[in-house]
Amino acid sequence: SGRWARAVAILKELEEKCATPIGKLRQVADAMTVEMHAGLASEGGSKLKMLISYVDNLPTGDETGLFYALDLGGTNFRVLRVQLGGKEGHVVKQEFEEVSIPPNLMVGRSSELFDFIAAELAKFVASEGEEFHLPAGRQRELGFTFSFPVKQTSISSGTLIKWTKGFAIDGTVGEDVVAELTKAMERQGLDMRVSALVNDTIGTLAGGRYYDNDVVAAVILGTGTNAAYVERAHAIPKWHGLLPKSGEMVINMEWGNFRSSHLPLTEYDQALDLESLNPGEQIFEKLISGMYLGELVRRVLLKMAEEAALFGDSVPPKLEIQFILRTPDMSAMHHDTSSDLRVVGTKLKEILGISNTSLKTRKLVVEVCDIIAKRGARLAAAGILGVLKKQGRDSAARDGGEMQRTVIAMDGGLYEHYTIFSNCLETTLKEMIGEEAAASIVIKLATDGSGIGAALLAASHSQYL
Ligand code: ADP
Ligand code: MG
Repeated sequence: SGRWARAVAILKELEEKCATPIGKLRQVADAMTVEMHAGLASEGGSKLKMLISYVDNLPTGDETGLFYALDLGGTNFRVLRVQLGGKEGHVVKQEFEEVSIPPNLMVGRSSELFDFIAAELAKFVASEGEEFHLPAGRQRELGFTFSFPVKQTSISSGTLIKWTKGFAIDGTVGEDVVAELTKAMERQGLDMRVSALVNDTIGTLAGGRYYDNDVVAAVILGTGTNAAYVERAHAIPKWHGLLPKSGEMVINMEWGNFRSSHLPLTEYDQALDLESLNPGEQIFEKLISGMYLGELVRRVLLKMAEEAALFGDSVPPKLEIQFILRTPDMSAMHHDTSSDLRVVGTKLKEILGISNTSLKTRKLVVEVCDIIAKRGARLAAAGILGVLKKQGRDSAARDGGEMQRTVIAMDGGLYEHYTIFSNCLETTLKEMIGEEAAASIVIKLATDGSGIGAALLAASHSQYL
């Protein structure tokens, strides 16, 4: 029928506009490398902030003692304690708790959010068992993973540049987030010092390095997306401080804000951006990350419902609700292997109130998921290639005859659970760098490595060293 033909035409157009042939991906990777240089050259030199983390030494394995970590930056926040035993003992014991953030606190007042966090942290500390040991007279020390763009002023202080990922809280931008947390902890009567303020990418990099010496970069693909990597300190023109002894500095790229004329943007991306909490910002993130993929699929299906009556004569009202289709549900539909696409049918019914869909319609829905997910995965692969190029690790380099190994620590629910996405990312990266180089580049899943990483950085920046 004419309606079906129209729906197929919308799909075809989507496919064309989202296309990411290798040539285009190379342009994206090169643009990423160029922007990295620009962001390192001067403050405000690029959409990429290339934030200096003040981490110039990554964990060695010698860290000892009891340390805490707090991870804030997505839908959940986590608190963790770890007893470190140095080279012999490694991680002697660790415990964590995960708490979901009440949605009203994500758009409320700063002090309310920090009070909530400090109260949960105080409860966690109160529940501590005998296996964890704090030497007498010592203050507890915490690594604070705060996964929003922060302008660091030292390893343990920094001001918030902007909120992202659905957070929109009054009166925090421009404030020192460590001071905010410290005041809230004092209000709770919790005696704890924030020894390190880190982004989750930095925490993941540190946690990854603890277990594997060849980790030189970290990528997050979760609610949002970001990357961090080890840079040579003298390659950071905007750094006017003393050159660190190690000669290295970890950089938090804030790559979610990357943008380039080479990115394949569609009408759906433009509308999503315009109606978002942060229009014009985080364009790369809006193409790739878990917060947005499902929403993009919803927008395409809505157009098919409106212009091709894909789901009947009237547009299903729930399909008009922003963010109603979450990426985990998109992923479940995309991975449906049943012959009648039963999961797709159930999801459409349960989430969007659309019943009795034909197999043909379900297949079309899966194709929309496929186009949106693979575009995101391929662009993420291009981003990674951009970083490897900046590090000079994109081709098979030999270090005294032995192949130099490059490990990227990866974290985030999107990469971890969306198998089609992660497989596509890896295949694309291999395709771009070639078999030989690919053999020495490893993407290592480091789920929640940022918590242990933050605790390790708290240890290496302890006031008692
Ligand atoms: P955060 O990024 O909030 O710190 P996570 O790394 O756990 O947290 O990532 C959570 C995000 O991962 C979710 O917002 C969602 O977008 C994505 N995600 C979680 N589970 C799945 C899944 N099964 N399929 C696809 N995406 C998922
Ligand atoms: Mg996270």
